[in-house]
Order: sequence, then C-alpha cells, then structure tokens
Amino acid sequence: MSDSLAIENYEIVNDHLLVSFSDTSESMVSLKSLRERCPCASCIGETDALGNLYKGPDPVLNASSYQINGLQPVGYYGLRPFWKDGHNTGIYTGDLLKKLSG
Ligand SMILES: [Zn+2]
Repeated sequence: MSDSLAIENYEIVNDHLLVSFSDTSESMVSLKSLRERCPCASCIGETDALGNLYKGPDPVLNASSYQINGLQPVGYYGLRPFWKDGHNTGIYTGDLLKKLSG
C-alpha cells in the first residue's frame, strides 16, 4: 500500500545514527547532518498555497544541538529525536533518513 521504508531498528553509535530498514538496507547519518536537515516546520518553514515560504529566524545551534537524549519511534515509518538543546519537533521518515545517509 505504501512504498515508504519501515524502520526495523535504530541505535546511536558515537555521533552517528544507524538505522536498519524492513528491506534489510541500512542508513548511517551523522547527528550533525541529521540536525541540519531537521524537517520540522520551524526549521525548514512552511509553504502556503501560493508558494510563499514562512520561516522563523534560523535556530541558534550549539554543541548540544547535535547530541541526542533519546529517540522515539513514530509509527513504523518515523523517528523523532530528542535533541539535548530541547528541540524535538522534527520527525524523520525512513525515506528521509535514506536520503541523508552517506
Ligand atoms: Zn526542527
């Protein structure tokens, strides 16, 4: 029904997030690029029907912005990191994690 990648397992190893998917592929994403690509509305902004982008000021990131307190699975297809600086509104889909891998 959906071609989204389901997340089987995940763990933090040093400063990387390792994710394994239902199709047995894996992604490894550094926490830095994970945070810089946070998909939440306050980080990337929201586009209205006319294509105008509404975005808050760029977040001020520091060392704790790239460290993770915990991860919460969101359904089968998403992961929500709890960053040490208090940010936790970004939900990363398997497809996004796949894209960020490298
Ligand atoms: Zn965000």
